[in-house]
Amino acid sequence: MLTLICRSLVTLGLIAVATALDAQENDPTLTLLQRLSDAPGTSGFEEPVRKLMVEAMKPHATSIQYDGLGSVIAKHGDTGPRIMLDAHMDELGGMVRRVTSTGFLTMQMLGGWLDQALVDQRWVIIGSKGPVKAVTGIRDIHVVPADERTRVYPREMVFLDIGARNAEEVAALGVSVGDPVVPDAPFTVLNGTNNYLGKAWDDRVGCAAVVVALQKLAATSHPNQLFVAATTQEEIGLRGAHTAADVIKPDIGIAIEGGITGDVFGGHPEETQVKLGAGPGLFLYDSSALPNRKLTAFIKQLAADKNIPLQLDLVQGYGDDSAEIQKSNGGVDPKTRRSDGGENPRLHALRSRVIRSRCPGTNVL
Ligand SMILES: [Zn+2]
Repeated sequence: MLTLICRSLVTLGLIAVATALDAQENDPTLTLLQRLSDAPGTSGFEEPVRKLMVEAMKPHATSIQYDGLGSVIAKHGDTGPRIMLDAHMDELGGMVRRVTSTGFLTMQMLGGWLDQALVDQRWVIIGSKGPVKAVTGIRDIHVVPADERTRVYPREMVFLDIGARNAEEVAALGVSVGDPVVPDAPFTVLNGTNNYLGKAWDDRVGCAAVVVALQKLAATSHPNQLFVAATTQEEIGLRGAHTAADVIKPDIGIAIEGGITGDVFGGHPEETQVKLGAGPGLFLYDSSALPNRKLTAFIKQLAADKNIPLQLDLVQGYGDDSAEIQKSNGGVDPKTRRSDGGENPRLHALRSRVIRSRCPGTNVL
């Protein structure tokens, strides 16, 4: 479940973007969110999402280019600091690992799944003949021993059922080893509220935010070279961000990500401090990167000036594209000095986050 994209993001003293979404009909941002959420796009299979991103960004960009891993980079502005605005296109999913003689499939998971999120779910396999519906079956309660009823099934015991009785029927449906698998979780406005239900909010909500930022900035003047990068393979090791940053060679990197709300049942304030619907979050710490302190101070001040309710967050286990952007092109020590005596501004990465929450019953991590 995801709240409205709140408002997002800030940069370098030079860009200020405020995006407010509402759930009204015919809202182009809502439509964009729906299309992005519904698009299948596991790591290494981002093409459906890339198509949407190119379509949305091309009219507002002065150029479109790609890195070697398939990230798409839209540029706007010819002079000034090189600002990399990043969101990743890939989503948590899987790929078919093995087809059994009885027609069941096992699955190689891609990205950070919890085992308890895998069972009793609907999925879509992108086969050679088109989408194929699947379900991860579980054993019936009437045959499961009492001590097994509360046990988490390890992913090695999870299988996909597509209704086939043997390997030949699997092949006839156009499904084969290596095919991408995504959750079957169509976009839904949740009961008339401003909360949206669907899959892949991490990081399609970031994709929508950077598209809107590009649209708004292209309609005004700004003193930057803006590079909006929709990256690949974030969920399996931040790979596209590294290659995109090598192409862009940014002075400043900003990753827009799905955050983690703490105001859910069982949440603890030491795990995450942000709340759903209370404004965008700014990471001050996670286990993959530390943002530049001067840049975060600037953003806090800018948010205050613009009356944007910025939330601050420190999360123990988390990693996103900002970590690779920060380390690309040799990295830069914020204390190093340029020859003119000024502080070298290169590669100060930070993240502004759009807040999301857990969605019971569907896979939207
Ligand atoms: Zn992400």
